[in-house]
Amino acid sequence: NLELSLEEAVKGKSVEIRVPTLVGCEVCDGSGAKKGSKPTTCPTCHGQGQVQMRQGFFAVQQTCPTCSGKGQIISDPCKACHGEGRVQKTKTLSVKVPAGVDTGDRIRLTGEGEAGETGAPPGDLYVQVHVRDHKIFTREGNNLYCEVPLSFTRAALGGEIEVPTLEGKVKLKVTAETQTGKMFRLRGKGVKSVRSGSVGDLICKVVIETPVNLSSRQKELLNELEESMGTGKDVAKNRPKESGFFDGVKKFFDDLTH
Ligand SMILES: [Zn+2]
Ligand SMILES: [Zn+2]
Repeated sequence: NLELSLEEAVKGKSVEIRVPTLVGCEVCDGSGAKKGSKPTTCPTCHGQGQVQMRQGFFAVQQTCPTCSGKGQIISDPCKACHGEGRVQKTKTLSVKVPAGVDTGDRIRLTGEGEAGETGAPPGDLYVQVHVRDHKIFTREGNNLYCEVPLSFTRAALGGEIEVPTLEGKVKLKVTAETQTGKMFRLRGKGVKSVRSGSVGDLICKVVIETPVNLSSRQKELLNELEESMGTGKDVAKNRPKESGFFDGVKKFFDDLTH
């Protein structure tokens, strides 16, 4: 398992990993037999690893019980590997992580797997990628998502705000009358796919922030604003959602009483 930050996964990186592995025993050259001795051919199966057993009319092929199918017997086992031909070791590997990998991806390291039994060549090693959660961005496929707080005055008037990308801040034009939850798409600011090479987008979801810690002057201004928007039918002009909502509530109660 390989733990990466989102930035590392997106940009790619060379990392060193330490893996426990079985390697061919150097003392016996992987044979499992003590230096100077040699494995001998199994007398039971004559090196076949299999024996024929007769059961009535049938001849049944079975794994040789004497050598457990290996075909050879080690009468004088190597002390270093206890006759296994392999020993446990920790090795350090340099892994080149390609840009754009995601959680669940596997990186194949050819020939870096465990040594085969008694001298067989090693297999491949697969490293499973796990990308840690990011403070700002969440990733879905090649797209990145983030939430951006927006003051309610800026949301009403529109304008430019700064939003984060993996390559630093960029300017985002917010249209006037932006509501909370609105998504802005920044093309090509997502993740470059490790397979297709296509680049995803960054999608910024705007969250309107209600101002806090207001001074008395600011409260005065807001009160003035509130009064300027009127009551009753006038509400519909500045706050259509609110007006529609209370129309719905009124209809709901009207329906109840009739
Ligand atoms: Zn050995
Ligand atoms: Zn045998």
